[in-house]
Amino acid sequence: MQQLESYLNGSWHPGSGTPLHDPTTGETVAECGSEGLDLAAAVRHGREVGGPALRAMTFPERAAMLKALAGAIHEIRDELLDLARINGGNTRGDGKFDVDGATGTLAAYASFGKRLGDRPYLTDGEGVQLGRTPRFWGRHVRVPRPGLAVHINAFNFPAWGMMEKAACAWLAGVPVLSKPGSNTALVAWRIARCIVESGLVPEGGFQFLCGSAGDLLDHLGPMDGVAFTGSAATGLRIRSHPNLLAQGTRVNVEADSINAAVLAPDLEPGSATWDLALSNLATDITQKAGQKCTAVRRIFVPEDLVDALLEDLGTELDRYRMGDPGERDTRVAPVAPGQIEDVVAGLERLKEAAEVVRGGTRPEGPGAFLEPTVLRARDAEAEVLHSLEVFGPVSTVVPYSGRAEDATRLANRGGGGLVISLYSDDAAWTEAVTLGVAPWHGRVWIGSKRMAEQALAPGMVLPQMVHGGPGRAGGGEELGGLRGLDFYTQRVALQGFQGFLDGRFGGPEEA
Ligand code: NAP
Repeated sequence: MQQLESYLNGSWHPGSGTPLHDPTTGETVAECGSEGLDLAAAVRHGREVGGPALRAMTFPERAAMLKALAGAIHEIRDELLDLARINGGNTRGDGKFDVDGATGTLAAYASFGKRLGDRPYLTDGEGVQLGRTPRFWGRHVRVPRPGLAVHINAFNFPAWGMMEKAACAWLAGVPVLSKPGSNTALVAWRIARCIVESGLVPEGGFQFLCGSAGDLLDHLGPMDGVAFTGSAATGLRIRSHPNLLAQGTRVNVEADSINAAVLAPDLEPGSATWDLALSNLATDITQKAGQKCTAVRRIFVPEDLVDALLEDLGTELDRYRMGDPGERDTRVAPVAPGQIEDVVAGLERLKEAAEVVRGGTRPEGPGAFLEPTVLRARDAEAEVLHSLEVFGPVSTVVPYSGRAEDATRLANRGGGGLVISLYSDDAAWTEAVTLGVAPWHGRVWIGSKRMAEQALAPGMVLPQMVHGGPGRAGGGEELGGLRGLDFYTQRVALQGFQGFLDGRFGGPEEA
């Protein structure tokens, strides 16, 4: 049995005890584990060896490193897509979404970084006069925090999850210790090998923990940060970790989200905006077997459009064949290892408030498959619809009045979401709903016939735009161009003589 290694303190350490499975066949494909690893020493190694080496590089040098890493990972793309199939059950398309997302995000941060000057800080706004004359002056700047970035990732995006976080930390000049979700760690482990073998990241700038987090969080201090992606329950455990609270360690939580799509009453079946909605809904239900944090769970549809939507969505979903992810025409793969029982149990709970109108069954034979499933809610107010994330190819159509205020109220019952998509060609309706849902969502995706041809689907997280959401979605924020560096830097107010501050800490604001 292949034992995946952790890379800590400058060397590789094989681990065992946690089996990794192929969700298509149920076979065990590797194992990992973190027992006996010295995580206190790894934290020190990152802080004391990796941090100074990264901070000695300029922004453009770190940007060049990101670009070269994107290239190195792209070179092993086919191998990664195979591993994503073997351990994640990913179709080639699903694997690409993850792997190309990882290299694309690295490349994007390389391009953001090369525009920054070769100075050891980022400017933050204009200077401001504080005294009677401009001699007493103030400026804000952001400087890298001399700590370790601990990245704890979910099972569903082993490549993108690891690299989108690392890109921001590295560009800021902060070393990374990355821990993937154990059950799909194979892809992350192969990328970790690629990063270390490439020699591109200075020693200590990248460490990899394959297995449980053990006592890692006990060793963190005030300059360290934990960026976590995963379930709300684990997020709560990490957020309330006594040492992190006592030390004031930064914590960013990206958790689950009951994402919504809202169709407006002006939509006409067959229109460009209607077709855009159908295509995005079908993608969200089927892509990565519905195991995207941004996938739509609730589809709000005006009552008089529900029958037409269900019929057209059914036709659209018929085009997606479920099966072995290794076969070329398969579009719907099994859910990741260890997930199917939760998905089926969640579906049973949704049935308390909704009827299954399509799918809902598990095919005979091995494999963690569930047919793409659409439900129709009996009661739009039922609590379970707005609180339970069924992390699989499952979505519920919820009839509503079509009024902007009802759409807003129902969507916001998700308690805080990552993304909400709106479909309308009525600007007044769209503006009212956008403003109503904006405080409760990290991203509002506004679909209309004017952008339909060029639009990237709402489930796609783009490095230029912030990712994260309030409340239930964890309250975190990642990416968003250079905003993604905020977590890894300290904003500091400098007050003093204008000539000194503008001369030493001035410069144009970053884009
Ligand atoms: P999870 O069970 O919460 O695990 C997430 C990560 O936390 C894993 O690496 C896990 O390690 C680790 N972990 C578990 N207990 C821990 C502890 N006490 N201390 C430190 N680390 C701990 O979540 P998951 O099942 O992997 O992910 C699915 C969830 O993630 C879904 O709800 C989905 O919506 C959400 N998600 C959100 C986003 C987003 O960007 N907002 C993106 C993707 C997924 P082990 O694997 O070793 O247990």
